[in-house]
Amino acid sequence: MSTVITSIDPHSPALRAGIQVGEKLLTINGHEVLDVLDYRFYGYDPVAQLTLLTPAGETRALTIHKMEGQDLGLNFDTYLMDEMRQCANHCVFCFVDQMPPNMRSTLYVKDDDARLSFLLGNYTTLTNISPREAQRIIDLHISPINVSVHATDPQLRCTMLGNKNAMQSLDYMRAFGEHGIVMNGQIVVCPGWNDGDQLRRTMHDLLKMNFASCSIVPVGITKYRQGLAKLRPVDAQSAGEIIDIVDEVGEKCLREKGTRVFFCADELYLKAGRPLPEDDYYEEYRQLENGVGLLRLLEQEFMAALRFADAPESPTPFTIATGTSAAPYLSKLVEQAKAQFPEVRGQVIGIENDFFGRTIDVAGLVTGQDLAAQLKGRDLGERVLIPISMLRHGENVFLDDYTVPQLAQELGCRVEVISGDGGDLADAMLS
Ligand code: SF4
Repeated sequence: MSTVITSIDPHSPALRAGIQVGEKLLTINGHEVLDVLDYRFYGYDPVAQLTLLTPAGETRALTIHKMEGQDLGLNFDTYLMDEMRQCANHCVFCFVDQMPPNMRSTLYVKDDDARLSFLLGNYTTLTNISPREAQRIIDLHISPINVSVHATDPQLRCTMLGNKNAMQSLDYMRAFGEHGIVMNGQIVVCPGWNDGDQLRRTMHDLLKMNFASCSIVPVGITKYRQGLAKLRPVDAQSAGEIIDIVDEVGEKCLREKGTRVFFCADELYLKAGRPLPEDDYYEEYRQLENGVGLLRLLEQEFMAALRFADAPESPTPFTIATGTSAAPYLSKLVEQAKAQFPEVRGQVIGIENDFFGRTIDVAGLVTGQDLAAQLKGRDLGERVLIPISMLRHGENVFLDDYTVPQLAQELGCRVEVISGDGGDLADAMLS
């Protein structure tokens, strides 16, 4: 843990109060500051009484007056002001364990930190926190928290998470629910493990624990599973069965609570070969970050943009490259654009995932080398459009370290990165 101040924001309350870089923050309003959660929580009030330890070893106190909720303006060595928690599990479906060797080391990091759940929306299993830390979440009313659930049968949860202590986290979830902590869940469904009646049981238990929402996503299985537990991918039949179970519980919740609580990821509909639900199913897209409703929202935005678009002057021909699962859906959008503006010339190519294995069919795991190998030599028009989800966050780099300029050079045409917004997709097709 490091609460030594490394910088102070300009014009901040802390700077005005004369706090110095190098001083150590000890307490706020009498509460010891252990990490960023304490700092944020106890520093929320309009009056903050701080005790600091100077580099010379003297303790000093000062009072800061500021607006309620205004950040004090202190920065520390690390964002968490503490080490990031590594996960204590060995989940049977862990994607990190199924990665090819020799990739960038950060891709093998297994973090599982409840604080990142609150601060950044990460999902946590709650298996590596102590009863005292769980109590702190309740005391500070840290909310909302995103929880990776997978199963609530205690034995099954321990087996699936590869952690014999995983059942204690069920008690934490119950306690959080009782104390009004908002929880959003995620269930990775592995056929033969936690589908069928186990899935029903998990959903009913989550309702008792007052979960606000929960996404149900299919397990991803790569070709690098040697020595790992036997898993089979979700196929069309199992995807259909999962959707039916989720809808059976979801429809009941909708009637009784006004929300369906449980939402299937788009991937399940695509795998089942069923149409995606309509816009109102998604309840303002509350589980979007788990791939629930991405395609429906994209279509809504796309169609709205198309309705108001002017006829393009001379659009350049394009190819959209995406994962094989979403390719038919995007093809329909291209056809919509062509129907309205016949001068639009474009196609969609679904990229098979040879890097991770062909059972992986989502756009977010398509690599630069698969794109290059499968697009090279084909008639691509003048440009290739790729979704931003193929790139590492904030970078121009694919998962396999291939760069966008490298791909453009290999293909001999422009490569344009499209945001996840349907309006941007329409603009790109018409430009
Ligand atoms: S919690 Fe499970 S899935 Fe997540 S990183 Fe740890 S082992 Fe992998």
